[in-house]
Amino acid sequence: MRSTDLMMIYEVLSNHFGAQGWWPAETRFDIVVGAILTQRTIWRNAARVIKDLKREKLTTPNALANVDPDRLEALVRPAGFYRQKTQRLIELARFIVEKYGGSLERLFEGSVEDIRGVLTSLKGIGLETADSILLYAADILVFPIDTYTRRICHRLELISSEDMAYEALKELFEGGLPSDLRIYKEFRALLVRLGKTYCRPRPLCRKCPLRELCYFAQRL
Ligand code: SF4
Repeated sequence: MRSTDLMMIYEVLSNHFGAQGWWPAETRFDIVVGAILTQRTIWRNAARVIKDLKREKLTTPNALANVDPDRLEALVRPAGFYRQKTQRLIELARFIVEKYGGSLERLFEGSVEDIRGVLTSLKGIGLETADSILLYAADILVFPIDTYTRRICHRLELISSEDMAYEALKELFEGGLPSDLRIYKEFRALLVRLGKTYCRPRPLCRKCPLRELCYFAQRL
């Protein structure tokens, strides 16, 4: 994938949708909590839970590590899969407290490989969630790959298969983009926006800002 391809796509999407301002959170720990809450649901539901957690003063690792699970389940319920997410949040918070004295900054002091290894060793944190945490909470130049990105890249014929290995697709983005955190953060958000708005499983190509660049659309 050439950097010109990626930057052209980025510019078109940015002009069309405007700044996405991801990730809308007040603290790094809010971002980490949000990355778990937003799994398999829309961001609006996760944001509602974060607001409630703030009201209940449960947005620090120490507070979440010691919370009564039943109380947390009730708060997490609007984000769906609430039992699973409650368990994951408590485990994550306890891990940060026990290993890093409750400090995310200490966790983020390690190398990218180490932080990634630590995060993905925790239940419920896969590569995409770990990389989202690295990019948005730790400000590290890592490009998370999700289903939207796979689908869009395949339809644009930037890759030959939607099933391309995670690391290989991630490296294509990282090799093709300038080393600019703002672009990484915005581009990821713009791809999600495109995937939700136009490049759905049944795409709305006629309205899509990328239609002139897209091989899939040209074959319709
Ligand atoms: S033109 Fe169609 S297939 Fe191509 S990116 Fe847009 S919505 Fe997806």
